[in-house]
Parts: sequence; C-alpha cells; structure tokens
Amino acid sequence: MGDGDEEREALRRIIRPLRVRPGRKVWVPDDFDPRDTGGLSGREEAEPHLQQGLELLARYQDRLSAQATHGVLLVLQALDAAGKDGTIKHVMSGLNPSFVRVSSFKVPSTEELMHTYLWRYSNRLPDRGCIGIFNRSHYEEVLVVRVHPELLQRQRLPVDLMGPDIWERRFREINDWERHLTDNGIRLVKVFLNISREEQRRRFLERIDDPRKNWKFSAADVRERRWWDDYMRAYSDALSHTSTRWGPWHVVPADHKWFTRLCVAALMVDALVDIDPQYPQPSEEERRALAEARAELEAEAG
Ligand code: ATP
Ligand code: MG
Repeated sequence: MGDGDEEREALRRIIRPLRVRPGRKVWVPDDFDPRDTGGLSGREEAEPHLQQGLELLARYQDRLSAQATHGVLLVLQALDAAGKDGTIKHVMSGLNPSFVRVSSFKVPSTEELMHTYLWRYSNRLPDRGCIGIFNRSHYEEVLVVRVHPELLQRQRLPVDLMGPDIWERRFREINDWERHLTDNGIRLVKVFLNISREEQRRRFLERIDDPRKNWKFSAADVRERRWWDDYMRAYSDALSHTSTRWGPWHVVPADHKWFTRLCVAALMVDALVDIDPQYPQPSEEERRALAEARAELEAEAG
C-alpha cells in the first residue's frame, strides 16, 4: 500500500452514497437528505479528512499539470445560498491557482444568445493539465430556463424547435457533449449542492441580519423561492436523465457547510486518483540535454 491509500479509501467511503446511479430515476425531496453528514459527528471530526483531502488534491494537481493530457471540470449546480462560493473558496485553497479557472455563468449576454446554448460553456472548458470550475453551468439551460419559460423565448430558437420535447432533446445533447469531452480527456465532476428550503430561509435571514453579509443578499433570490417546487421537479428530471457512466451526478448534502466542503474535496481527489497522472519521463535525447545543461551549470562554479 502506498502512502495515502487509507485516506483515499476514507474519502471514497464518503462519496459513494452521493452518486446518482446512471439510469436511476430520482426525486430530490425524497431521495436525498440535505442534513446528512455521512456518519461524521461534526466539523472537528471532518477537519483532518478535509486537510488530507486538500493535500492530496495539491499533489495530484501538480502531476495533472505536468502530464498535461487531461483536464478536470467541476460542475457546481445549486439553488441560492447552498454554498457554491464557499465551496469553491475552500477547494481552491488546496490548488495552484495558475492551473485553475473559475467561470461563473449569469443571465446570458446578447452575444451569447446569438449562438447555440452550449457555446458559452465550450469557451470556458479547462485546458489539458488544468482544472475548470463552473459556478453554475450548462445545466442552467434545463433548470432556470425550464422554470422560467420566458428565458427560453429569448434564445432566438426557430419556433418549430421550441416544442415540449425540447428538454428531453437537451438532456440528450448535454449527454452527447459530455461524452465527447470525456472521450477527449476532460474529466467531469458533477455536483448538485442540495440545501433544504428551511436552511435556505435561515441563511437568507442571516444575510439580512449580519451587516457583513448584507452584500450577499438579493431580494430576487427570496422571490425565486416561490418556484421551489418547480426547481425540485426540474432538478429531479435533469439528474435522472443526465447521470451517465461518463458524467455521473453527485448530490451533496448542503445544510452543513463543513460536510459539503469535505464531499466536494473528496470528489475532486477521487477524480484525480482515477486519472492517476504521472510526471513525464524524459526521453533519451532529453536526458542527454539535461546532462549537458548540468555540466554547463557546474562548470560555472569554477
Ligand atoms: P451569487 O448570488 O453568489 O453571486 P449567483 O450564481 O446566484 O451567485 P447571480 O448574479 O446572483 O449569481 O445570479 C445569476 C443568475 O443568472 C441566476 O439567477 C441564474 O439563474 C441566472 N442564469 C444562469 N444561467 C442562465 C441561463 N442560461 N439563462 C438564464 N439565466 C441564467
Ligand atoms: Mg444569486
């Protein structure tokens, strides 16, 4: 057993129950508990695992960059206040920022609307050797756009392509696109941060009451709660149709921030361990060039 094997197994045990088995039809409100903590008693028990997870992440990221054949894309989806920002901040703390790019997707611009819906996401994919983080993602195209049909109206689609079969079609297109990505070395880590309605209410109140959090508060986010059930339906349908062998979904409980962060770190480590990137071995010719350079540097010492 190499070093860290035991820790990797501990992280794997945490993430196994989060996975949506491809083909499984899920109903978010019944099938996943936002308060779950994977049997851990609290922050204190989780902390050493999180630290070890972040260390492993740093080690593997260095090899990922050196090998430069694979990219990793973390797709983060959630309702407001589920902790996307905090999760990104924590996972980033274990990474070399030179090889990471975070992309946040908002309401599409006029230019973006002049292209097919996957265009803006394609433009932000990670390079080989890099990690990309999508803060919201192409999944908004079957979530917010489905919950608010007026957003679809703005997408300038030919009318005969806007029938009720559009969501099934988009699921298929997303699956095909993701398959193309994984078949070409981009590994997907898809995460839905699952917050309960009550915890979201509590966090909004905190944003109102704590002056340091006022800037995060948006009255529009509170209004969006009216569509909670529609979001649950849209998320359930999307997870049921787009959890694939090559791009499985993970539903991460989001009522306890410490557990959310541990889960996402564990999922990233798992993806990197699976890729198992290696430092490239220099060729015979490169070895000779290294030896020559070494001789030159040593000669300078006089
Ligand atoms: P935060 O509130 O933490 O800054 P956020 O991701 O909620 O993060 P906002 O600027 O508040 O950022 O909101 C972005 C908005 O853009 C969300 O309401 C989201 O639903 C919307 N959005 C994202 N993608 C699309 C899309 N493809 N079409 C329409 N609206 C979208
Ligand atoms: Mg917001």
